Amino acid sequence: MHDDRKLVEERIDRVLRERVTPALYAESTPLELAAWHVPDEPVPVAQALTAPYEPFEVGTRWGRPWSTTWLRATGSVPARWAGRRVEAVFDLGFVGDWPGNQAEALVYDLAGRPIKGIEPRNQYVPIAGDQVGLLLEMAANPDILANGFLPTPLGDKTTAGDDPLYRLVRAELAVLDEEVWHLRLDVEVLRELMAELPTGDPRRHEILRALERSMDALDIHDVAGTAAAARSHLVAALSSPAHASAHTISAVGHAHIDSAWLWPIRETKRKTARTFANVTALAKDYPEFVFAGPQAQQYAWVKERHPEIFERMREAIKAGQWVPVGGMWVEADGNLPGGEALARQLVHGKRFFMEEFGVECRGVWLPDSFGYTAAYPQLARLAGMEWFLTQKISWNQTNKFPHHTFWWEGIDGTRIFTHFPSADTYNGTFEGAELAHAVRNYAEKGAGTRSLLPFGHGDGGGGPTREMLEKARRLRDLEGSPAVVIQSPDEFFAAARAELGEAAVWSGELYLELHRATYTSQARTKAGNRRSEHLLREAELWAASAAVHAEFAYPYAELDRLWKTVLLHQFHDILPGSSIAWVHREAEATYARVRTELEEIITAAVSAMAGDGEATWVCNAAPRPRAEVVTAPDGSAVFVEVPASGAVCLSAAPSSPPVPPPVTATSGGTGTVLDNGLIRVEFDAAGLFSSVLDLATGRELLAAGTRGNLLQLHTDLPNQWDAWDIDAHYRRQRTDLTEVDAITIVDSGPLIGAVRVERSFGASRIVQTVRLTAGSSRLEIKNEIDWHEREKILKVAFPFDVHADRTAAEIQFGHVFRATHTNTSWDAARFEISCHRWIHLGEPGYGVALANDATYGHDVTRTTRTDGGTTTTARLSLVRAPRCPDPEADQGRHEMTYTLVPGAAIGDAVAAGYALNLPLRVTSGGAVTPPPPLVTLDGTAACVEAVKLADDRSGDVIVRVYEALGGRATTRLRASFPITGVTVTDLLERPLPGQPIAVEADGALPISLRPFQVLTLRLSR
Ligand SMILES: [Zn+2]
Repeated sequence: MHDDRKLVEERIDRVLRERVTPALYAESTPLELAAWHVPDEPVPVAQALTAPYEPFEVGTRWGRPWSTTWLRATGSVPARWAGRRVEAVFDLGFVGDWPGNQAEALVYDLAGRPIKGIEPRNQYVPIAGDQVGLLLEMAANPDILANGFLPTPLGDKTTAGDDPLYRLVRAELAVLDEEVWHLRLDVEVLRELMAELPTGDPRRHEILRALERSMDALDIHDVAGTAAAARSHLVAALSSPAHASAHTISAVGHAHIDSAWLWPIRETKRKTARTFANVTALAKDYPEFVFAGPQAQQYAWVKERHPEIFERMREAIKAGQWVPVGGMWVEADGNLPGGEALARQLVHGKRFFMEEFGVECRGVWLPDSFGYTAAYPQLARLAGMEWFLTQKISWNQTNKFPHHTFWWEGIDGTRIFTHFPSADTYNGTFEGAELAHAVRNYAEKGAGTRSLLPFGHGDGGGGPTREMLEKARRLRDLEGSPAVVIQSPDEFFAAARAELGEAAVWSGELYLELHRATYTSQARTKAGNRRSEHLLREAELWAASAAVHAEFAYPYAELDRLWKTVLLHQFHDILPGSSIAWVHREAEATYARVRTELEEIITAAVSAMAGDGEATWVCNAAPRPRAEVVTAPDGSAVFVEVPASGAVCLSAAPSSPPVPPPVTATSGGTGTVLDNGLIRVEFDAAGLFSSVLDLATGRELLAAGTRGNLLQLHTDLPNQWDAWDIDAHYRRQRTDLTEVDAITIVDSGPLIGAVRVERSFGASRIVQTVRLTAGSSRLEIKNEIDWHEREKILKVAFPFDVHADRTAAEIQFGHVFRATHTNTSWDAARFEISCHRWIHLGEPGYGVALANDATYGHDVTRTTRTDGGTTTTARLSLVRAPRCPDPEADQGRHEMTYTLVPGAAIGDAVAAGYALNLPLRVTSGGAVTPPPPLVTLDGTAACVEAVKLADDRSGDVIVRVYEALGGRATTRLRASFPITGVTVTDLLERPLPGQPIAVEADGALPISLRPFQVLTLRLSR
């Protein structure tokens, strides 16, 4: 037989594209249009209903960037259309197919009730009755990535200009020819399946000939009249059942809606309404449809702004067609949120779904975050989760992850059943190529038989379409294709676990070998997050202490609101720094407000305990006792000892601590020197550290011939994804900042010694204040940066004379180790790493730590010197300057501090991290001796991470502790109030089964913790 395969395929494609698709709508009639252009920010529909409209026509330009135009469309359905499927069809001037990043609309009826969304792939509104009245809230959202990763001013309405972005292309009533529509779906499904089958497979040729016969039966001049005949030739091909060994695709409807990204938060609020209205409309038409919806915050927005849509969602949830998933407040970044914050993501997310719908989420749903902390398995399980889902690791640049279904083991040994959809997408469409890839790619073939596929347009929302559901119906049991079954994620995970309970284990973090600059971009947003997390800790601790000891009214509602604000900003495009300028401008303002409100709560709580008076209190919210120099209200420096989670009164201190040896700051022939008897730092003429001596051991920290605290400027233009990525080639273009403007001793002892080093470079300037206080084994470096570089990254380097194989980096409730060498491609790919408050590197018997108050990105490398010794160079990534999507990202002022801790064990790193992020709080006022700390722990392995009153407002005290060193901890918890009962709880403060903890005769609670274990206790009083 002659091989005409290619010719037949080309014929099918052309007829489908040029004849069948244009025949979808048989007849049409224009709608009468009027428009109202909203002067500024979006308004509620009630206001739009009474606004002054003016006539509007198809072909008219509309929509300056970020503006809203309300379009009123009215008309009558022609009588001859009676009994046919009539729709209103709109094309707002769509560009391409990506629904989430351009014009979209929510359609209302003229009573102001929302109907559904309009998007490029979803342009219709069903019409019932013969009189039509619709109101479209059209959003002129710009296509930020239209020109790839070039800088654009469109990402903020203050810079985007006034030129209209769109032109209305279509607004009409039309009759959908259902036979033609079904023909197109039949042909698409078979054509796409055929393309994936081997040319040696008879099935491929059977489909080809069936399609050819179908085309032969179709009159291209009368598609509507011959569609049924054309379809009849496809029946056999579409009813041939799947192979017995066919892979199963567990498909679930989904709409990934970034809570902010290439649009501001206010637009996300509207996106959720459009998408959720689409979903509930689709659920009515397709009873088999199941939709998985994450991010409680988005539900909360719809509840507040669109109660009708929220009620429809509630009905769909009741009917099992809509499944809340993920149990998190937002789909947070997977690396950067602090331990307590990640716990609260789960607490607030799960609680919202339980309270609103009586649904307890059983799995973590994070398809799109940029890598996942090894703390997740334990935290997820402690929140009652049984499974974890992502697909993002398929974006790895270097290594292919070996599993799709596996047990993921966290730092404490907890395992959670985990799945990566083998289709490598969270925006599934049932295209043949996507399904075939899911099968070919699935790594557990032979042991497992199924993978999950989230389907629906996403990123900016849109969600599933009727075409997807029609395709799913055709793919249920089709020869040559995987079998598609629509089911909830819980059903999928139960089935996968039943067949793969003995799945492989992956231990440790899920590091994404991409997007490594998300640890650094938009440094002010990151600093705001770090500050807020620690102020929340302080606010809860002092408010709980004051509630117990001074009958202070615990601010439940305020703390709940502030937590949710901070949690929202941990969304995986806000905290990572990958959003447009608008988002980060607002985030910085929001963090400033959060800070003010939390400072007010803290001041009120401390004042409630301290009373009125002239004395000074020093409060320590960290979990370790501290002996430090503080600055008193009169400006004098004072050395003070403060218990963990407690306070002292300066004037009423029972016994002043012994004053440590003085710190000296001198300048002479050999340069400038800071020395406090514990650390001696020498500055060279360039203001760099030429020596850092650990006087306790006599050990020099810096490798011979190197200089510490060296600022290094690199060119930093990744190949793509500017705000997200730092590519390895950045290392090869470097300028060391060795020019100095001034070196000045600004404090010369006896309690504080400080040297200020000022530098200018490019258009930028940095002032570093290097500070050493009496009695401290931590050297503090405060950086004030006025940053005006483009496509550069500023790092600061410490070349240590330490032979370290690995770096310990703090994560949530513990730390992970990463190799400092590049033996394997996995090690090499970790050329930029994230940490929370500290990194530590060491050799047996000696280590150093670098703690930070705002910096997440780091890198650590090794070299061998000519003397045979090893130099391990640790660098902090201070600030970047990407130009897309925010062309002005990171420009301007930054403040960040890091401390260097010589001779540090891991426990010292932990203490330094807390100390830097929870500076001693000096308050004036107060006459009384402070109450004892609300709770304390013995020893240094166990840490208190949170102290608060129970969310159920019972007045119980909740204490969250964890083992911080990676070993076992036996400790005693002591409370400064009578305890009437102790319950071990989950993160949601619900009792957990297990051994009860007995209160000892002296009131202490004995606690044993395994390595990195997180334990939550409810103390009744
Ligand atoms: Zn996303």
